[in-house]
Amino acid sequence: MTRLHGAALELKSVAMRVKILGAGPTGSLLALALAQLGASVRLYDPLTVEELPKRSRAYALTHSSRRLLQSLDLWDPLNSHLTPFTKLQLDDQELNRHTCFEIDDLSIQNQAHGAVGWILDHRPLMELLLERLKNQPTVSLDLGELDKQGLDGHDLVFAADGPASPTREAWGIKTWSHRYQQGCLTAKVLLRGAGPLTAYELFRAEGPLAVLPMGGDVFQVVWSGPLRCCQERAGLHPSHFLDQLAAVLPEGLQPDVLLDHPAAFPLQLSLAHQLQRGRGVLVGESGHRCHPIGGQGLNLCWRDVSTLIKLVRLSNKDTLPVAKLPRLYARSRFLDLVCVGLMTDLTVRMFSSRNLLMLMLRMPLMVLLARLPWMRQVLLKAMTDGPITVVRLLSS
Ligand SMILES: Cc1cc2nc3c(=O)[nH]c(=O)nc-3n(C[C@H](O)[C@H](O)[C@H](O)COP(=O)(O)OP(=O)(O)OC[C@H]3O[C@@H](n4cnc5c(N)ncnc54)[C@H](O)[C@@H]3O)c2cc1C
Repeated sequence: MTRLHGAALELKSVAMRVKILGAGPTGSLLALALAQLGASVRLYDPLTVEELPKRSRAYALTHSSRRLLQSLDLWDPLNSHLTPFTKLQLDDQELNRHTCFEIDDLSIQNQAHGAVGWILDHRPLMELLLERLKNQPTVSLDLGELDKQGLDGHDLVFAADGPASPTREAWGIKTWSHRYQQGCLTAKVLLRGAGPLTAYELFRAEGPLAVLPMGGDVFQVVWSGPLRCCQERAGLHPSHFLDQLAAVLPEGLQPDVLLDHPAAFPLQLSLAHQLQRGRGVLVGESGHRCHPIGGQGLNLCWRDVSTLIKLVRLSNKDTLPVAKLPRLYARSRFLDLVCVGLMTDLTVRMFSSRNLLMLMLRMPLMVLLARLPWMRQVLLKAMTDGPITVVRLLSS
């Protein structure tokens, strides 16, 4: 029996009633977690059950996400779809400097799981989540439907309706946001010459380029650059696209086949002024968004879910009144969201530049990272367990 199933036994006589707007990876995972804690859940999304898994995207998962999926009994069923990487190679292409994060740079607890991180495709993730949700007797799936943002007799409403969140708008919550000059292109390719179980983050003047292993010779490319360039590249004939990609990859990496239609997206850093209004809660990208550098996005959304699980457990034990949960959630998440937003933003600004000052700052940083294991350990801990764990470690 999992910890969450065990917790469902501590239920109050009247189950919590929640409405979740948005069945993307955040809303669906939250729905499942809350149902396992005994809540009665209504999940709405304008997309149908067939449309939801269709997005062509792969996520880089960190150890904080691994722990959450394990606690929900989802890790083992996903195992055959998870591609582990044991090396994360950082290349500063302007300075021709390299460094590599390896298993030894993880904390002892994380080392036992044998990977720096994992790549997971959107489709198997969504298919498993939707299958589990269909089998939960306390979940009502209203997919292919829209619903109003009000409580309608529910104890809490969660808005997991993504970065453009109509619910956030309807609740009148404003956001701080910064639109990057850079956009981002994603594509799946067959590629030769990569190291075994290696993921790459290449720092280029136009923006970072991530090459993520998806099993065999298949890789997901997350290529940042001026938005107009990304859109033009996305429209290129496959052979021209592969030529352009080959020209920017490090020597030895050779893309052979384009496996899907490249898609270009604008990039934004944003944070809602408040993560709650009354009994309404913003969760996932409806509340915050960051640059995809370092693959932090979904992991950050799922740490929202982990926090909500902790708070709902307290509410189930009558330690926390439901009405106080949204405010406590907003307070608990603030620091993590601000730190990751700043970390990713600073990295993008520093490493997407030919400015002499930036190059002078980067040179010692890359040298020290390559030479000092403790520096790699601190950075990797911040990326994989969240920056707050580093703050706690330093202050203990
Ligand atoms: C190019 C790119 C690459 C990325 N790479 C990575 C990566 O490597 N690793 C990583 O961790 N993250 C990555 N991310 C971020 C990741 O995609 C997001 O963090 C993740 O999709 C957020 O999930 P979400 O469920 O919060 O929002 P979404 O995935 O946007 O889901 C929102 C859902 O809400 C639904 N919806 C919309 N309107 C309504 C409404 N009115 N009512 C109800 N539902 C509604 C939508 O149909 C959708 O299903 C990347 C992002 C981009 C743009």
